[in-house]
Amino acid sequence: MVQVDIDISRCTGCSHCKDVCPVNVFELRPRAEVPDVVDSAEVAAKFQFRGEKSLAIHGPECIVCEACLFECEGECILITDEEQHVHRSTSKQSV
Ligand code: SF4
Ligand code: SF4
Repeated sequence: MVQVDIDISRCTGCSHCKDVCPVNVFELRPRAEVPDVVDSAEVAAKFQFRGEKSLAIHGPECIVCEACLFECEGECILITDEEQHVHRSTSKQSV
């Protein structure tokens, strides 16, 4: 089974993952519903944090197309495929 993890401290709530995912793995939730989250200062230096955080609600549906990995502002998505290979965000938007 594919596992999709998000480093929530780095998630800016940009919604790019949700916008590009063909199988609706992600849902955006108000950050008030995500307890004890501290925003990454490193990411804040480059991007604006919005009022929501992304959760990989339907991670097992992931087909490892990698689209989200290239769009993620916070470079915070980590996918472990069925062969236990790890795929990480390498955002084209980072400097
Ligand atoms: S890699 Fe998985 S979670 Fe990311 S966009 Fe593709 S199907 Fe969705
Ligand atoms: S693309 Fe990355 S930073 Fe943007 S909402 Fe999704 S997980 Fe968060």
